[in-house]
Amino acid sequence: MSLKEIFCQDKAVSILQRAFTQGRMSHAYIFSGPEGVGRCKTAREWAKLLICEHPILQKDYADSCGSCNCCRVFEAGSHPDYVEVYKELVEFTKEPKGRKRPVAFPVDVVREFLIEKVQHRPILAKRRVFVLKEAEKLNIASQNALLKVLEEPPSYCSIILLCTRFEKLLATVKSRCQVVRFGRIDEERTVEKLIGQGIEGDVALYFARFCQGRLGQACQLCALELADAEIYNTKKKVVSFISTGELSQVLDMANWLLAEAKKISSIWSKRQEDVSVSDINRKVVKLFVNVVISALRDAVCLQLGDNSTITNFDQKADVEQLAKRFDPEAAAQKITNCYNTLHWIDSAVNEKLIFEQLLLNPFVCDTIDV
Ligand SMILES: [Zn+2]
Repeated sequence: MSLKEIFCQDKAVSILQRAFTQGRMSHAYIFSGPEGVGRCKTAREWAKLLICEHPILQKDYADSCGSCNCCRVFEAGSHPDYVEVYKELVEFTKEPKGRKRPVAFPVDVVREFLIEKVQHRPILAKRRVFVLKEAEKLNIASQNALLKVLEEPPSYCSIILLCTRFEKLLATVKSRCQVVRFGRIDEERTVEKLIGQGIEGDVALYFARFCQGRLGQACQLCALELADAEIYNTKKKVVSFISTGELSQVLDMANWLLAEAKKISSIWSKRQEDVSVSDINRKVVKLFVNVVISALRDAVCLQLGDNSTITNFDQKADVEQLAKRFDPEAAAQKITNCYNTLHWIDSAVNEKLIFEQLLLNPFVCDTIDV
């Protein structure tokens, strides 16, 4: 892989390439944008270009050569001058204190895996590149610890912060970095890519709309689908239940959904062993909260007379039923409730309770209205 193969992020990539050809690379970047639009891949390929021994250079175009010693060692995943820093490294800090699955980014990881390592000179290449993942989870102490190294990094050092929520970073951190923004990827290109993976047309279009331009997420869901996770069938049952189910069945349905979520988590964990099991569980729970949000949003669209871009186009009859159950204002309140539920997930609230609340939410208004 190389920079030219990054999918649909031409603007971000050309900013980096131009900086490289002009020798004006920043020592610190923030790659900002939604999850799954190519920030991680671009960071890797940018790092590869920075450490490549014979980069390909044309006017405003640069890429790694792919064949020098540094490129080959990098591709083998063992380049000593490329360092990924992520919160789960807490397990390998001097005082791990039994922590394995932190929710926030621990300051010890920033100190031991970034600030201390930045002081070591490169071993193979001319530069050392650090990619810090999930920078939006850095707390204030961790961000303050980073400031000095962002302000006066050694000349051989490049730091890239990957961030999905730009507003979570302190102004002092932002001002010391060059920001490269990554946009969402258009629906048509996403569908093409998913069909290319072996997903059938309607399912591909559903996942493309559900993921709203986050191609990486759409590809991941489709890969899970091809591994028999049955996410699509489960979403159909969930949307159908909240549209036409009975209040008395909510607890049974929540138990069923919990079992499906566990099955999906287990398939996902086997495919992505570098991510903690609890993070994957959270992703799956969030996935179904978002399934409910998408159905409620569709209901609002139908109420407002717009059915051209609904996500659950494949369950239009169900969404029409859902739209009849409350007015747009009540639907908006229910969407807000779902977003509140998303916050609980990060606070490690019991999954069964979350599913019960999630599935109960569309019914509550009915019982009050009766
Ligand atoms: Zn090279």
